[in-house]
Amino acid sequence: MHDFHFKNNELTCESVRVSDIAECVGTPFYLYSYKTLADHFTKIQKAFAAVNPEICFAMKSNGNLAVVKALADLGAGVDIVSGGELKKALLAGVNPQKIVFASVGKTEEEITRALKAGILLFNAESTAELDEINRIAGRLKKQAAVALRINPDVEAATHQAITTGTLKNKFGIDLDSTRRILKARKRYPHLKIRGLHIHIGSQIVQREPFVRAIKKVAAFIDELKGQGIRIEYFDIGGGLGIIYKDEKPQTAEDFAKAVLPSLQATGVRIILEPGRFIAGNAGIFVTKVLYFKDNGYKKFLIVDGGMNDLIRPSLYGAYHEIVPVTKTKGKKVKVDVVGPICESGDFFGKDRMLPAMKKGALLAVMSAGAYGHVMSSNYNARLRVAEVMVKGTRFEVIRKRETFEDLTRGEIIPSFLKTGRKATS
Ligand code: PLP
Repeated sequence: MHDFHFKNNELTCESVRVSDIAECVGTPFYLYSYKTLADHFTKIQKAFAAVNPEICFAMKSNGNLAVVKALADLGAGVDIVSGGELKKALLAGVNPQKIVFASVGKTEEEITRALKAGILLFNAESTAELDEINRIAGRLKKQAAVALRINPDVEAATHQAITTGTLKNKFGIDLDSTRRILKARKRYPHLKIRGLHIHIGSQIVQREPFVRAIKKVAAFIDELKGQGIRIEYFDIGGGLGIIYKDEKPQTAEDFAKAVLPSLQATGVRIILEPGRFIAGNAGIFVTKVLYFKDNGYKKFLIVDGGMNDLIRPSLYGAYHEIVPVTKTKGKKVKVDVVGPICESGDFFGKDRMLPAMKKGALLAVMSAGAYGHVMSSNYNARLRVAEVMVKGTRFEVIRKRETFEDLTRGEIIPSFLKTGRKATS
């Protein structure tokens, strides 16, 4: 499942002790295992080998250039949602013909850049967007390859903030409108509507919602065939759930077995957009104990990482396992593991049984490789943390810790305030 294991009571990533990395780079930091990333990618590739799919890693889950390059070198494409992700994908060496671009709000500049780069598909989410891509492609004298993102109106039991496939959500186009668009496709002379796309949500552990949504679209592809409308790609999105605590998600193989018959029946090329499945358990967040506090009612371990570094617990009430990096035998106590930020929502775990830990001891917040560093911020003027990757016995920093210069880069004191008291450094 992943390559973070205890060896001689020391948490080890592949063959490197996490505490050795901490000594070298300081804390907090994110740590990724190359082998786990590669294994997860390969698992999906093997499970779906029968349809030889394009696997477009969802960069929003982890956009570090090293992570993207590692996967691109293994043959992955990427699913992007912004001009920034496009820029990073190209920098990491992703083949533009393996890039799909979702987002309900693509700007003129983003569309232009993606058209010039020659991406595989724009996953379009509204008729207004189709008009815009058509207009821009016409101006550039190009043909834009488009997939229509269908909102299949399928409820997936996951956190409400990460469910995307019902008509209550802003994503995609309802089936009736999709029919109308395809019938009137001559309205878009600069578009080639080549595919259909769905993405019904994230951290979905059951099979049924995927099966229902995929069957719906597969039947639709069949209906279109009957009308002489040829679809070349079916992009089934991401959303596969992983184990954070005691979830029992389907394996890549189970998932493939459940959906392959419908996918094969369509006879079209298949695209997948996994993010969390590949990166989630391939990364941890390492933080250091600053203080222990007992207010008579509750006990707190105050650590140097905060909600600005890893927001999932605060934002979604998400559970992350928390383990001491060095195992000790001491009696366990019930503590909240909290950060230094001025918000009561700043926590990594509540009521966790952990051994008494001294100042300077290290904790690992597990399963932090997806939607971790990418969602971090400078809230409370905190520096964004470093990222490190291990491969075998080697480790390298793949993103430097921010400096105070980074923190104020781009901030300007306007001329009308320059007469006041001089700033001190
Ligand atoms: N594709 C699209 C369009 C998404 O919006 C997302 C995430 O929200 C993903 C793929 C990746 O989802 P996950 O990380 O759950 O696999």
